Amino acid sequence: MGGKLYFADADSSYSDAAFVIFGAPFDGTSSFRKGSRMAPDAIREASYNFETYNSFFDIDLSDVPFHDAGDVDIGEDHTVDQAISAVSGMVNKILADGKIPIMLGGEHSLTLPCAGASKAVYDDLGVVVLDAHLDLRSEYKGQSNNHACVSRHIIEDVTPRYVSIGIRSGTKDEYSLTKAQNITYYPADLVMDKGMAHILIELTRQLDTRHLYLSLDMDAIDPAFAPATGTPEPFGLTDRQVLSLIRWLAPLCAGFDLVEMAPQFDSGNTALLGAKFLREFIASAWVYRK
Ligand code: MN
Ligand code: MN
Repeated sequence: MGGKLYFADADSSYSDAAFVIFGAPFDGTSSFRKGSRMAPDAIREASYNFETYNSFFDIDLSDVPFHDAGDVDIGEDHTVDQAISAVSGMVNKILADGKIPIMLGGEHSLTLPCAGASKAVYDDLGVVVLDAHLDLRSEYKGQSNNHACVSRHIIEDVTPRYVSIGIRSGTKDEYSLTKAQNITYYPADLVMDKGMAHILIELTRQLDTRHLYLSLDMDAIDPAFAPATGTPEPFGLTDRQVLSLIRWLAPLCAGFDLVEMAPQFDSGNTALLGAKFLREFIASAWVYRK
């Protein structure tokens, strides 16, 4: 388990860091393929593949102050509510110290405390979720904090200033709810047709805020690029579309997470992609910091 392996180039001390990475190795409510509890270390391991120099932003990541705080303490028998409370404690501290939290999940239910803590700091917070799934169930398998319910909780308990991107799966009831409650989502098909640039313009207009929380459920991406997820769904976003979004939105982000990767279904490519997204997020957020 965590505590031994750290994300590449996260050489800053906690106190000097502008960004703090932490792992949340919990997949207790995962429904189809568990394994995201192993994702934090798989992503950390993959992070050593890359050069410290980022040519797109002309910046060397070894010059950017970021820290890996290791994993939050979630024992094997812990419930989702305990995991949420552990994540909440970590994120509240990082935000109170004026830093940007980056969570390596873990399952998607753990996004709720991150978005909630960010909203407490930035009242105008908007939440952007990348996902194949609507995640709008009120409960699933008897659990209200199941990973399939996270967007419902964000909208009802954190902020209605919410959009999701990459959607291509949900129940009829979930789709009805988007109509009844005017929930904005951009299906993967629409992103393909209109292009990510168009979606980014629309969503920034819609959310109308300078502060975002960004959650990347890795299954938003097509399984051809990211096969190792808990609930893979064909016909997703491309890796490059998500890269564009991260480069554009990172400077506005109060926090970021990457969830739902199940490394045992990987030949390494999903973890590499996740590690690279994280490095691009940090590079962009640092270069364009306010
Ligand atoms: Mn999800
Ligand atoms: Mn999903």
